[in-house]
Amino acid sequence: NKFYYFEVKDLIEEVVNFMTPQAIMNNINQVITFRVDENRKILGDRNLLKQVFINAIKNAIEAMPKGGNISINVMEDIKHTDDKFICISIEDQGHGIEEKNLEKIFDPFFSTKNGGTGLGLPHIYKVIESHGGTIVVDSSVGKGTIFKLILPSKVEIK
Ligand code: ADP
Ligand code: MG
Repeated sequence: NKFYYFEVKDLIEEVVNFMTPQAIMNNINQVITFRVDENRKILGDRNLLKQVFINAIKNAIEAMPKGGNISINVMEDIKHTDDKFICISIEDQGHGIEEKNLEKIFDPFFSTKNGGTGLGLPHIYKVIESHGGTIVVDSSVGKGTIFKLILPSKVEIK
């Protein structure tokens, strides 16, 4: 796999635009907030990470059959440092994940959906891990879910 630097903002905007027709059809509004340096970049496989964010937004849409909001937040903690982590969170107002299922959601073929493949989250896990990142899930049944995808990032030195 070839890793290159790419702009986080650019990728997230591309993914959100790509998901807009599906979101509209499901009465879902996507809200994005960027709190990142303009030059903030991720060193990685852009296509694999694009699939990751698409899968995460798909899950969020599928968790809200009656519609709602998806908030996508891109945050960084300290400015202009060379190596640090960026957090991209995808938050929905959907049905949430039952406590007993939390430990299973990353297992291949685990799905609570009719016709679900159960392969979205295992893929997300594999890709985030291969980029040196981590995932934090916080869910509340009946209220919603937040997936925090944490990845190493840096301001590219020119
Ligand atoms: P699939 O979407 O095909 O079911 P995934 O691997 O993407 O497979 O997700 C596995 C399971 O994790 C889902 O079936 C669902 O139970 C749960 N899940 C994932 N994302 C969410 C979410 N945003 N809200 C509620 N449940 C979720
Ligand atoms: Mg899925």
